[in-house]
Amino acid sequence: MGEFDLIERFFKRPARHAALGVGDDCALLQASPGTQLAISSDMLVEGRHFLSTVDPFKLGHKALAVNLSDLAACGARPLAFTLALALPRADAAWAAPFAQGLFALADAHGCELIGGDTTQGPLNICITVFGEVPIVGGRSQALLRSGARAGDELYVSGTLGDARMALEVFRGTLSLPADVFEAARSRMEQPTPRVALGMALRSIATAAIDISDGLLGDLGHILKQSGVGATVQADIAASRVAARLQCSDFAPSQWRDWALAGGDDYELLFCAPASQREAVAAAALASQTAVTRIGQIDAERGLRLLDGAGQALPNTYASFDHFA
Ligand code: ADP
Ligand code: MG
Repeated sequence: MGEFDLIERFFKRPARHAALGVGDDCALLQASPGTQLAISSDMLVEGRHFLSTVDPFKLGHKALAVNLSDLAACGARPLAFTLALALPRADAAWAAPFAQGLFALADAHGCELIGGDTTQGPLNICITVFGEVPIVGGRSQALLRSGARAGDELYVSGTLGDARMALEVFRGTLSLPADVFEAARSRMEQPTPRVALGMALRSIATAAIDISDGLLGDLGHILKQSGVGATVQADIAASRVAARLQCSDFAPSQWRDWALAGGDDYELLFCAPASQREAVAAAALASQTAVTRIGQIDAERGLRLLDGAGQALPNTYASFDHFA
């Protein structure tokens, strides 16, 4: 099977909303009037972002999920994506389930594959997603990292830390009961992009980011770009580690570590004024996504961590950095 057969067989589908899909030199996307395009790319490299043994169906899901998560963090509605793929071999046994996992998530979000590139090389997957955000009264409704204000409350969606726990099991540094591991593993391999929540938070949240490198590390980006500080209730964040409900084998500090600096969570971390508490709850309900208030934004710069008794905890957490 050659390059063009591979594209034809696994990745070419009739264009739906796009004006032109796979098959020409460019795809054509018609932007709706009164909207802005939101664009984001994420690359997944074997051995760095995923294990070589991962099920290709799940990898197809994850490659798109991490990109949709960026659209979610902007409050954008997914429209389309491109797929740049380097593969060691044109292997149907790999491409078929990969495409199935990819399209299952794509179809669930009405996001269509409109083009890409395919080359021989070490397994590497790069997706670029395109979404749209309305402009209302001349103002974009995109959620940015820079909008947090002192007095805002800080929220996180879903659960934290479970993906990191699964990774530690794969690394051989942690052991978990089998059912706990399976649940954690599915959070690592098939994260849920919080697209509906992101869209529901437009005009409610003042700032948002998706958590890929750990809660505190990603919070740092909001604080820096907004010129503010924050206080985080570490034990409330730690209570969001789903595995904690099933096993109590670890010390509180360990749960905090996974929640605050686990990484690969793909949950939304966002800020909203206290006056919007009910609106945040309504957005959570409408999008069927749990949200938890974990702290507040302060005028005083820096990050303060408190335990359940209100005592200050040292902040020794570093964000993930590929080149550190
Ligand atoms: P070009 O040589 O003009 O870059 P290609 O021969 O690389 O075009 O690709 C042919 C068509 O197939 C293009 O429309 C391109 O967008 C599409 N395509 C290539 N690889 C993929 C892929 N992995 N998934 C979806 N579309 C792809
Ligand atoms: Mg090309």
